[in-house]
Order: sequence, then C-alpha cells, then structure tokens
Amino acid sequence: MQRGLILFLLLISTITNVYGYELILPKNKNSTVNTNYILFLGKANNTENITINNEKVFTSSNGAFAHSIKLKDGENRILVRSNFNTQVYKVCKKTKNKKEEIKLNEFEIKPAIIKKDNTPLRNTPINSGMNRISHLFKNTTILINGEFGEFYKVFLSKDKEAWIAKEDVEFIDTKNSQIGSFINMDSKKYSNAQLQTISFTKNLPYTIEDYDKEILFKIYNPELSQTSFYTLNIPKPEKYTYKISLDDGTYTFKVNEIPKNIEEYTIIIDAGHGGSEKGAIGGLGDKEKDINLKIALELEKILKAQNINVLLTRECDGNVDLATRVDFAKKNEANIFVSIHLNSIGDTQMNIHKMRGTSIYYYNKHSKPLAEILEKTVTKSAGTKRNGIHTASFAVLRPTEYISVLVEAAYMINPLDTVLYKKEDFAKNVADGIANGIIEFITKN
Ligand SMILES: [Zn+2]
Repeated sequence: MQRGLILFLLLISTITNVYGYELILPKNKNSTVNTNYILFLGKANNTENITINNEKVFTSSNGAFAHSIKLKDGENRILVRSNFNTQVYKVCKKTKNKKEEIKLNEFEIKPAIIKKDNTPLRNTPINSGMNRISHLFKNTTILINGEFGEFYKVFLSKDKEAWIAKEDVEFIDTKNSQIGSFINMDSKKYSNAQLQTISFTKNLPYTIEDYDKEILFKIYNPELSQTSFYTLNIPKPEKYTYKISLDDGTYTFKVNEIPKNIEEYTIIIDAGHGGSEKGAIGGLGDKEKDINLKIALELEKILKAQNINVLLTRECDGNVDLATRVDFAKKNEANIFVSIHLNSIGDTQMNIHKMRGTSIYYYNKHSKPLAEILEKTVTKSAGTKRNGIHTASFAVLRPTEYISVLVEAAYMINPLDTVLYKKEDFAKNVADGIANGIIEFITKN
C-alpha cells in the first residue's frame, strides 16, 4: 500500500515537474569556479519548500528564487531539496595560487611617449575603479622613474606622481629628453562657451581637477627643470560639459554651457547589451538585453512626443560594442546620454535579498545632478526601492563632452524585483521616470 503511494507520488511529480523547481544557474551539476559563492537561480512551484544545504530558500509570489551558498576550497557537495526530491550539486572551488609579492622598483628618470589616444593616467597602479586622473593623447612625452607590476611610475612634478600601463608607452632616446617649453596661451569667450589654449613645443601630460566653481587644468613637465607645471583656472557655468583636444603641442580646453531649451537637445538612449550579449538573467529566464530595449523604446516614444531629438544606439536585438556606442554619441553631438540596464551581482555576495531596487551610476562630476534627479523620479514612477547614486568607471560614462548616466532599473536576479519587472507596465513606468528626470534636469535652474 505504502509502496503504491510512493510510486503514485513519483509518477505525479514526473508528470508536473521533475524536481518541483527549475534552475537557470548553475548550468551544470558539476562545476569548477574560482569565486567565494555560488548562485542558485531559478523558479519553483509555489507548493514546493526548497532548501539548499538546509537553508530555507525564499521564493517570490511568481516563483522566482535566488540563493547564494558560501564555498570552501576544494569540493563542495550542495544538496538542493524540494518536497519529494533531493539533488546533489558538486562545485569545486579552485584554491588560489599565492601571488608573488610585487615590489616597487625606482630608477633614474627616462623619457617615453604614449602610443595611442585616450590612454588612462592613473593615481594607483591598478587597472580598475575610479583611479583615472586623465586620458593622455598619442605622442605625449612623459617621464618615467619606476615600475610596479604591469605599471610604470610617471613623474609629473616633485609632489605629483601617477601610473601608466607598461603596454601603453614606448621609451625614447634620452637625447630627446628636453621636455618642451612654453610658447603662449590665449582665451576666448562666447555666449555659451569658453575656449582656452596653451601651447608648448611638445605634447605634455595633463591632469584635470573639477571643483565647484572652476576646473583646474594642469600641464606638467615643461622646460628642463622638470619640477614646474602650468595651471589654467577655468571658470564654469552651473550646467556644463567640456572637451580637451591636443594638436602639435597646443591644448584646447573648451567648456560649454548646456542648452537651456529642450528643443536644442540631442538625447542618446542606450539599451545595454544586445545580440549574443544577453546581460544578466532572471530567475524566470528573462534576459536583461530584452528588458533594456523595451524601456529604451518606451523612452524614445515619450521624449519624441515632446519634440526632443532622440537617437538610439540600438533599436533591435543586435550586438553593438561599447566604443561604437560612445562614438555614436560623440558624432551626433549628444547633450545627454542615458544607458539603460538591469542590475546583477557577481558570485561574491551572500545576501542577494538586500540587492534590489534602482541605482544610478555616473562618472564625471557634471553628470551627478542628473543622476540625483533620476534616482528620485525613476523609483517614484517604477515603484522600485531607492538604491542610491554611485560612481563607476564605465566606458559609456567617461566622455566629458556630454552628460552621461547609467540607470540600473532593478536587479534581474532579486525575487522581489522579478515581480516588479514582470509587470506589464514596468518598462513604461521606468521610461516615464527617466523622461521626467531628464526634463526636470533641463528645465530646473
Ligand atoms: Zn547590464
């Protein structure tokens, strides 16, 4: 009798759903990772009680769940249990090789030149984060006096050093070490722009310091003394963008006041990812790239209805790389660039349930006011949790020629956010929030 009941239940469970749940991640029962956590992402029938390694799994009203398990070095056996089923997942966490300790090696100053445009000069020898001081132009002469791992130490003045990736520079003959002398400088004022030029006999390195009322543009290593630098104090309007160009030793620094009238704007809407780049994935199997595009198309409609000039970096599901998106914005003389995404987390976090809501990212100081407004207007319109504004060094955010922000509307994997973004009007509500924020930013004094 009892055996018959078990058989019957087994039969039922195979007919409805083999395990009572479906996993999107991990993709395989056996995996090897080098992360500290592994994410179990998927959906379950509402009647199932899911536990992973005896930890109860929270499932949202539409069945989505996300649960992170901390891994120990070597093999981890993880038990996923539903009402009538237990599955074993084997995850091997690779033990990290201890890295050899890197030491700073200092040497006599050697001149070198920058090999390509847009080369980051950094304040720490790390290839990530918000540590970029400026972006140097091709054929800029710099002075190098040390190395640390993959970076050279750059001598700017006796009080100022910086770092540059070794692969970005080439040492030059020391006979050419004369660094270049000052020729002249000039400034011009227009109704909505200011132009300052400063000329040297060679291309020299620079840094930018953006303060509340002015921008300090510093040019280093002039003449033979190697200890002095030139500073241009550039006053700036309330809402501004700027552009630096270099031509044969002459820097041109242009500060633009952004237009006051909405009809003068060109707004670029950038739907994140696309094509083979799916972006993040949700517990119900939704792809970030599709939701991004939906929001972008809604936003286009709303802004066009207000007679605003709008352009999209992609209008369908295709691959567009980051450099193409940035070039497109520059070529079309964008005033505002809005990149649209849904957030994800790496396998580095235990508490997935805290990671939800809308976050706005920016890089340049002049984009911060728009980020602040959007954080209010998007969360208000979409009903998402306020998750703050943050700085991030993303390629689409770094250009200074336009105001640029990146909206992470919600978290793809968060079960509660899944309920929000599955709603019919989610894309339209996010788009409304973005449009309201942009209009508030433009029209507010
Ligand atoms: Zn994304």
